[in-house]
Formats: sequence, C-alpha cells, structure tokens
Amino acid sequence: MFRTIISSTRVGAAATSTSTSLPLSRAAQQQAKAKAPVVASRSKTSFARPSSSLPGLVPTSTSTTYAFGFTRTISSTRPSASPRRPAAADWRTMAEQDITKYLRQTHDRVFECNRAWAAEQKSKNPDFFATLSEGQNPEYLWIGCSDSRIPAEQITGLEAGDAFVHRNIANLVCNTDLNVMSVITYAVQHLKVKHIVVCGHYGCGGVKAAMTPKDMGLLNPWLRNIRDVYRLHEKELDAIADEDARYNRLVELNVIEQCRNVIKTASVQQSYAENRFPIVHGWVFGFHDGLLKDLQFDHEKVLKDIQKVYNLTG
Ligand SMILES: [Zn+2]
Repeated sequence: MFRTIISSTRVGAAATSTSTSLPLSRAAQQQAKAKAPVVASRSKTSFARPSSSLPGLVPTSTSTTYAFGFTRTISSTRPSASPRRPAAADWRTMAEQDITKYLRQTHDRVFECNRAWAAEQKSKNPDFFATLSEGQNPEYLWIGCSDSRIPAEQITGLEAGDAFVHRNIANLVCNTDLNVMSVITYAVQHLKVKHIVVCGHYGCGGVKAAMTPKDMGLLNPWLRNIRDVYRLHEKELDAIADEDARYNRLVELNVIEQCRNVIKTASVQQSYAENRFPIVHGWVFGFHDGLLKDLQFDHEKVLKDIQKVYNLTG
C-alpha cells in the first residue's frame, strides 16, 4: 500500500456540502459506527445526498496522510479516504442514513479518484489528453476474466492506449458470442494489434463453478463451454488426484482452448498470413504472487494444426 503526503489547499466544487468532512481514520469510523443507532428494520433507501459528513473533495488542510494508491503530490484535487466497507452481516442492521451515506461515499469516491488521476496525468505529461484524443493504436488485445482482482493495465504496467480490452466470466472466446467476435475482428482488422493475449487466473470462480455438479441457471450455457474443455481433456484431468491441482490445470487448459478459438477466426488467420501478426498468447495470473505465467502457447504450430480443418484464408 502506497502512502503519500498531500499538501493541496484547493477545494473543488463538491466541497460545498462537506465542510465538516475531514476523512476519519478507520478507528474513528469504527468508534462512530459503534455509537450509531441500530434499527431492526428500514424503509426503502434513497440516493439523495445526506445533509452532512460526506467526504467529497476535502477542504483546506496543509498536510494530510492518506493510505491509498497515489504516490505523488496532487495539487488540484485529492480524494478522501476510502469508506470502511461494512461486513455482509451488517447490512441488515444498518440505519438507512448509514446505508445512504455509504452508497454516496462509494459513488463519489470514484469521481474524486478520477479527478486526482486526471490531474496526475496532466502534471506528468501536459499533452497526455491531447494525445489520447487523437485516437488509439494499441499493440495488444487482452481477453481476460471479469474478476475484479485482475485489472489488465495495472498488473502489466501498460498505459492508457496500450491495450484493447475484452473481459467476461472465465475469459471465454465463443464463436456464437457476437461481443467477443466483434472485439477480435475490430482489434485485428482495424487496430492491427500485434499480440492477442488470453489471460486466465488461478482461483477462477467461473472455472470452479463449471467443475461443480449444480444447476447455475442462466450461467449454464456459458459455463458449458468450460465443461466442454473438461470433456476434451477428461483423461488428463481425471488422472490428477489432487482437486486443487486439477482445478489449476483446468484453468490452464481453458486458456489454451480459448487461444485455439481465437486462432479459428478468419480475421486472425488472414492477418497472420498477410502480416505475420497477431501472435496469440496464453497466460495465467496467480493471486499468491501477482505474477503472470506464460503457458508457452505455440501460435505457429497450433495455427497449422487448426488450418487442417478450420482454414479460412482461401
Ligand atoms: Zn475468473
């Protein structure tokens, strides 16, 4: 966790209703919560801004320490501390005004952080937004899982403009999914990306669900694609006695099969025949160490194999 000393004195527009809203420490928040009245039932909540204590842009203060991810002094705007997240069991007993306050805080904080981010980019590079406005020319198409813990740019150090991103549950590439097929076609034919990355992750809830003998309702047809991967590799997977190891291997095999699905598309085959790119890669992210594992997907070899049946370059 990064820490930074912020010495800005500017007060933004949202500060008009926050005159008493200096950010509370976690201990102070817990103390305040302990004193708050607890009600057994509540009426429908409204999203109206409460009368006080919302942490918008913080009023004048010469030096304050915040424990979140900004490493530079921010001179124009500065977000307040992230609100404490209530435990799941707390929601049933929280007072309506506390729920409304929490929802407002978590909503507003995104805009506070956005203003801080925009200010930081501009301070680092005054032409940053002029350059972004000119258009995009990304080198990578990233197809990843929707899991909130794997933000493509943050884990790879890529900047805005570097990657065209598509994410869905369990990073699937289905030929009947107009969304992912449109993304691939646009990325290859128009953006002319050089690399297509399918990135899965160990501990994937979608893959885990597909290993579970249970009716998942609307998710059934989506997860069926992962069950199909299992069936394709049933012999190898069933030979793995340890359940966690089998689960990890299915995550990897799912990535490899989705890479194959990318290569089955006409746009990828035709572009590669003409330009020698894009190259398809299969990676897996690990929560335990934050590192990407390259599955060494052999683009050239798989392309040759696939084109015995799926050749679309004629
Ligand atoms: Zn996942």
